[in-house]
Amino acid sequence: MCGVFGIMGHPEASRIAYLGLYALQHRGQESGGIASVDAGAMFVERGMGQVADLFTEACLDRLPGRSAIGHIRYSTSGSSRLQNAQPIRIESRRGAIALGHNGNLVNAQALRKALEDNGAIFSSTSDTEVVLHLFARSTEEIVEDALVDALGRVQGAHAITALTPTQLLAARDPYGFRPLSIGHLEGAWVLASETCAFDLIGAEFVRDLEPGEVIVLSQDARAEGEAIDIVAAGAGGAAAGYVSHLPWAKQARKSCIFEQVYFARPDSRLYGDSVMQARKRMGSTLGAEAPVEADVVVPVPDGGVYAAQGYSEATGIPFELALIRNHYVGRTFIEPRQSIRHFGVKVKLNPVESLIKGRRVVLVDDSIVRGTTSAKIVEMVRAAGAAEVHVRISSPPYVSSCHYGIDTPRREDLIAANLSLEEVRERIGADTLAYLSLDGLRQTVTSGEAEYCTACFTGDYPTPLSDELSTQMELFTPAGAGPAGREIG
Ligand code: AMP
Repeated sequence: MCGVFGIMGHPEASRIAYLGLYALQHRGQESGGIASVDAGAMFVERGMGQVADLFTEACLDRLPGRSAIGHIRYSTSGSSRLQNAQPIRIESRRGAIALGHNGNLVNAQALRKALEDNGAIFSSTSDTEVVLHLFARSTEEIVEDALVDALGRVQGAHAITALTPTQLLAARDPYGFRPLSIGHLEGAWVLASETCAFDLIGAEFVRDLEPGEVIVLSQDARAEGEAIDIVAAGAGGAAAGYVSHLPWAKQARKSCIFEQVYFARPDSRLYGDSVMQARKRMGSTLGAEAPVEADVVVPVPDGGVYAAQGYSEATGIPFELALIRNHYVGRTFIEPRQSIRHFGVKVKLNPVESLIKGRRVVLVDDSIVRGTTSAKIVEMVRAAGAAEVHVRISSPPYVSSCHYGIDTPRREDLIAANLSLEEVRERIGADTLAYLSLDGLRQTVTSGEAEYCTACFTGDYPTPLSDELSTQMELFTPAGAGPAGREIG
């Protein structure tokens, strides 16, 4: 759970990056950072907390130059501390490079052990630092080849932006687990995990990076504001202003379906589809699959809002925003010594009693992970006087932990992995419970070209979870002999 951003060729690069991160804040609230380049010198500012608190005018003034990358983080690998904040900047024999990474690598531990056995020193626990060690050790001469070499040796999910004194690089892993798009702003190229970042800065969406695509933007001598031919900017070749490579063996696309279900912002275009529309279709399909006699459809905000709308439209049951969310809640809060009923959940959500009292309520949420939130919400809605509470979930039972970058608990803590449907219903205290079927979900999201990773719902992981792989030899074989094979161009 992270967001990446990049911009090259803009006089206010770091300020634009800051705004881009603001729009990506939902992807991580733990730490953030921006790296910029000015006249060959690199500057980095990183810190713990949210974008609004991290960056001041003075801080952005310390990030001069026309190119920048940004990152916001919620840890899925490595603990929550400043050393793990990104972009991570290093010096190598090819000069300085800063790198921000969204996604989780499945062989990082094995690679790290092999590197440490060979004397490597790490300053963070993040798997992203492994990529930088591999980059530093690559025998390839030029930066883009060394980055391709390094990324060819890791397995799992990565959507990356990287900055050098003269280049901005972006890469998406061959499965395309995590999203990454390229856009255009006043003669500058921009990259972002989600298109909602382009909307905020007024950039034009150009396209998604292809799975396995590496883009290299070089500082060019174009006059400020001079037009670029963005129509020519397809994958796998040179376009005006950047070069695109497809260096790795092609894989079947496996974009994360949970981005569509829960994680991405509803105003983003994801994998060629509107997130908001996809969520509405999930709700209407759920309405067709699992209708119920009821008086009112109530979303669990914010995740359940569009699915609840779709459910309401499909069933004809009126929609009401009867749970009000407090948007200003921090991560922790101090509870009074004398306990207040439903305190934990009521800090975040409060029912509007007049919309619920005496009514048969359909509560719609996007997912049940641990089951603790649902149980509390059902209890709270009953306490507000609901006659019946029916829970409808706009995705299938969440049964397997994500290894590709969504923060999920261990399998033992996933309620649907351990209890039957009827047991889950009983545990959360609902009168009835139904989930969207996997086929139903697939139908709602196939309007784009994407094939999806559905491992969280099926346990069917697209890559080996290979932290046991023997990687010792791979580290020091000449570049080009790596397991993935590589053809640049
Ligand atoms: P619970 O079942 O108590 O774990 O909570 C499920 C709720 O958390 C749902 O309303 C989801 O919208 C939300 N949710 C789903 N996945 C995640 C995640 N990876 N991190 C944080 N919240 C999530």
